[in-house]
Amino acid sequence: MKLEKVPLSALDGVGIKMSERLEKLGLFSVADLLFHLPLHYQDRASIYPIGELKDGMQVSVQGRIISCNVQMGKRRILKCQIGDETGRVTLNFFHFNASQKNTLKEGMLIKCFGEFKRGYQGIEVTHPEYTLIQQREQSQAQEMLTPIYPMTEGLKQNSLRKLAVQAIEMLKQNSIDELLPTQLLSHPISLQDALFYLHQPPPDANIEQLENKTHPAQQRLIIEELIAQQLSMLSMRATAQSQPSIIIENEPALQEKLLENLGFMPTNAQTRVAQEIQQDLQQAYPMMRLVQGDVGSGKTLVAALAALSVIESGYQVALMAPTELLAEQHYINFQKWFEPLGIRVGMLSGKMKVKEKRSQTENIQLGLSKMVVGTHALFSDNVIFNNLALIIVDEQHRFGVHQRLALREKGLSTGFAPHQLTMTATPIPRTLAMTAYADLKVSVIDELPPGRTAVQTVALADTRREDIIKRVYQSCKNEGRQVYWVCTLIEESEALECQAAEDTANDLQLSLTDLRIGLVHGRMKGNEKQYVMDAFKAGELDLLVATTVIEVGVDVPNASLMIIENPERLGLSQLHQLRGRVGRGSVASHCVLLYKNPLSLTAKKRLQILRESNDGFYISEQDLLIRGPGEVLGTKQTGVAQFKIADLLRDQALVPYSLQLAQTIVAEQAHLIPALTTRWLGENQQYAHA
Ligand code: ADP
Ligand code: MG
Repeated sequence: MKLEKVPLSALDGVGIKMSERLEKLGLFSVADLLFHLPLHYQDRASIYPIGELKDGMQVSVQGRIISCNVQMGKRRILKCQIGDETGRVTLNFFHFNASQKNTLKEGMLIKCFGEFKRGYQGIEVTHPEYTLIQQREQSQAQEMLTPIYPMTEGLKQNSLRKLAVQAIEMLKQNSIDELLPTQLLSHPISLQDALFYLHQPPPDANIEQLENKTHPAQQRLIIEELIAQQLSMLSMRATAQSQPSIIIENEPALQEKLLENLGFMPTNAQTRVAQEIQQDLQQAYPMMRLVQGDVGSGKTLVAALAALSVIESGYQVALMAPTELLAEQHYINFQKWFEPLGIRVGMLSGKMKVKEKRSQTENIQLGLSKMVVGTHALFSDNVIFNNLALIIVDEQHRFGVHQRLALREKGLSTGFAPHQLTMTATPIPRTLAMTAYADLKVSVIDELPPGRTAVQTVALADTRREDIIKRVYQSCKNEGRQVYWVCTLIEESEALECQAAEDTANDLQLSLTDLRIGLVHGRMKGNEKQYVMDAFKAGELDLLVATTVIEVGVDVPNASLMIIENPERLGLSQLHQLRGRVGRGSVASHCVLLYKNPLSLTAKKRLQILRESNDGFYISEQDLLIRGPGEVLGTKQTGVAQFKIADLLRDQALVPYSLQLAQTIVAEQAHLIPALTTRWLGENQQYAHA
């Protein structure tokens, strides 16, 4: 019997409801359950001395019941005191029944496990898991470590554990395919033994090794999972490259005109990256290139140059941004650059009125808009491009593999796959890129335009607010500088954020009566926002109070001070991006991170990183260490960095090796690929064949 084919409903205790819950975890077959590996292990077997319990410990204790009473009050509580030779502890039960109370008799020996807390009357534990120990059981063999599985709502640890026990029993009767032949991977532990070990580790297992995922049984599975991931990426890349794309010859007339009008020279790095792109565009298979460049390195110009050569060849270009605001900024910028060259720029966003959207989609379909900017609304079904040949995605890290593939479909109406250019300010460490972005080639803009100065960053508690306000005044009045004051997101609500910005602007105006203060936030209309931004740019405003809308595309060299309120709410890369709005002129610039106490340890660490570095690469690496790859890559929802056991950061040493094995499999054992990718990527592996 193949366990991949045995549905979970074959196990005791799995009805319709339970099946649904398990499906939410991506578990359909008994084999799926076997690969649903414990995240942690608890040592419940060892007995901890009661007298040495400390607040927050999760351990087992054993003792005699000293008393057991129902305490009346607002809520009935069953309080049971137990003790061993070292001390006493209270067990609290808010939910209990009569029979439970009756079984907890004075003098009985009880073993319980739970999280112990310091309460009013010493150490207590609420709703511990417990067993009463009969005399004859005392000398029982030691139990194994208790596995703790990844969970979903409505599913109890205990139920999952019971199912895993049944699955392991089935594994003893049946086998599971060894998909990595020994001539490929010689490993001391077989797949089968690794699964036995990890679901039911023996009592003498090294818990620390298991927790660190360094046990050979875990390493065996991690390698297989990394290989599966690599295979899926490799096949995705092969599929992508097997499609024909439009060959774009290098026709520089429009590019030259843009450069003439620009008022500055591209940096060497910009020129080099533009050439790399140009070479890709001349191929008969689609470009898949990632451009990395720190905040302010001028990625937009590079994108514009690529767009112009495609437009000059007679095709359309789409540029997608992750937010409405970024899309608007790009729209304004591209209009400024392209309309003088006689190129119509279109715009699509989810927020647009129906009528406006319709006329925009018409222009796109007719091919009148050659350059189209927008949010993901660009890729909804009712948008049909006339002859799309290049898709540019800004701020790549917020898009996953699936979205990249969905984009490709858009151009296929012409029978050709569009070229893809993705741009990010969040550089990705190499080993991570090898897996997560294995389908992309990478260019780096490693140079900033001339005349930028490093920003000095300080972190201050908001008890120093008055001092900061004085400093703002000085900067504007005595030094003739301009200042940004940024209000950050409150509980994910744009409305509240805008409100906070309005209140802050009003408050600041009250204490800084002779400063000219402006306000921009995401709820203002596009032209209102632009009006205020223009006034700030023209020096008609001293202080600009803003929400994070100014994260991108704002360029005022005379602004040399930025205050960011509650910086602890933002991601490091976002803070770095915000801070990039100052330091664009020749004077020394400053950024004040005005935080609220108390700060968590992590928050402190993160602010410290911003204070010590202006290097986007370093910052994102540190961010990765603190937050983990899922969040940094923005792929939590999109599936790519979702692993059952591997972790791209922790296991990065294994990545090059697994890539090498994956390549061997592609070359010599391609028949293994479907089973391997299905085992580890399940439903997600669709993208391998998209
Ligand atoms: P990012 O890489 O962060 O997207 P942008 O493309 O928004 O950066 O560019 C930041 C600013 O620098 C813009 O105002 C842009 O016009 C300007 N800029 C870009 N390239 C150069 C250059 N070579 N010389 C001077 N300024 C430049
Ligand atoms: Mg940008």
